[in-house]
Amino acid sequence: MDAEKLKQLQAMNCVIPPVCGLCSHATFYQAGNLFGSCGKRTYEHQKHTGPVRSLSICRYGLCCCDHFELDQTVVLQLADFAVFVELDLTPTGS
Ligand SMILES: [Zn+2]
Repeated sequence: MDAEKLKQLQAMNCVIPPVCGLCSHATFYQAGNLFGSCGKRTYEHQKHTGPVRSLSICRYGLCCCDHFELDQTVVLQLADFAVFVELDLTPTGS
């Protein structure tokens, strides 16, 4: 990455949070799809009968579950931006 570009992104505190689109348990039917499903969560649809369904998720939804696992394939796609992945969003300082 261009050194000045990196500097500017760091100056704006760029962070890529642990969203569902970065989780190895998420399935998106096509690359770039906004919606997919979580392989760890299910629900019973109130309108349709049948087996429980995988929970629908949004690629940019912030996963606050303890099952989140970083998908290394997606991290590779982030290329130079991978340095901004921040899995621990616990506020620091006071
Ligand atoms: Zn999930």
